[in-house]
Amino acid sequence: MAITLGFIGLGAMGTPMTARLLAAGHPVVAYDTNEAVLAAAAAQGATGAGGAKDVADQAEIIFCSLPNPQISRDVALGPDGIMQGAKARIVVDISTTGPAMAGTIAKGLAERNIAWVDAPVSGGIKGAVNGTLAVIVSCRKETYDEVLPFLQVFGKSFYCGDKAGSAQVAKLGNNMIAAAVILLSAEALAMGVKAGLDPAVMCEIINASTGRNSATQDKFPRAVLPGTFDFGFKTSLSYKDVKMCVDEAEALGVPMVGGGMVRQFLAATQAKYGPNSDFTSMVKIIEDWAGVEIRSKT
Ligand code: NAD
Repeated sequence: MAITLGFIGLGAMGTPMTARLLAAGHPVVAYDTNEAVLAAAAAQGATGAGGAKDVADQAEIIFCSLPNPQISRDVALGPDGIMQGAKARIVVDISTTGPAMAGTIAKGLAERNIAWVDAPVSGGIKGAVNGTLAVIVSCRKETYDEVLPFLQVFGKSFYCGDKAGSAQVAKLGNNMIAAAVILLSAEALAMGVKAGLDPAVMCEIINASTGRNSATQDKFPRAVLPGTFDFGFKTSLSYKDVKMCVDEAEALGVPMVGGGMVRQFLAATQAKYGPNSDFTSMVKIIEDWAGVEIRSKT
């Protein structure tokens, strides 16, 4: 009989990832505090649950995709959380929770013999829809072997070892770089626009040259050059990730001067455009300072 899976947090990432598990034939019990997204998942074939404990009463392996570390902790360890459920054996956290919180949750769940898998993902909504995410994993090796077939539904897995939080460290480093290149690309492209260049052409040049990066290859063409600013990653989430990255580096004695600037730039973007703005809104601040818009001429 197929193992019943759980999925908690049906947001921008959780909804398409749940859809992929359902499409692969796995029964999924789902929960989200937002009733509308829960109803949409139920319409796709998931069984709606009344809370995290309810999911854990029905599902052996539970995926979580939640917006901040405190919510991840409450959903796992809270009084109505997963650890109170009768059936849960493994919790796979695909959120970016940070290494410290990953360790805390892993320890709490271990008291109930529930295994914890850090599995933060990279590749955005597009990757979640298409199953092309990078899935960065740390957990016990035997647990990894058990969850790997499910993780493969989401994309390509990278095993970082059995220490809780290791995968989170790798993920935070990646996300700091991903935000940094938005800022640096915006500065270069604003300069180009002011000098009379078409930023779409300039992106093509950069993408064929040594400055190419995920912002010029993907984020600018999709969300900045058309002026939509709807890439699909909230400023609050990017700020959370870069803040955790800089804090972690500091705790390890690693100076992170550039990362610290990116963190403050995201704080400014959040203050000006709000936590629910898209993180490509960072570019609007540079545009404002430079007095130009980085928009395609064609
Ligand atoms: P989101 O805000 O779109 O979704 C979060 C969902 O969690 C929402 O539907 C919300 O209603 C739900 N939720 C909040 N509190 C809850 C609770 N107590 N119980 C159940 N559900 C609850 O966020 P997202 O973009 O899907 O990101 C989720 C996680 O994945 C974050 O940690 C983020 O950093 C990470 N991530 C996001 C992306 C991306 O491109 N969006 C990419 C990689 C990783």
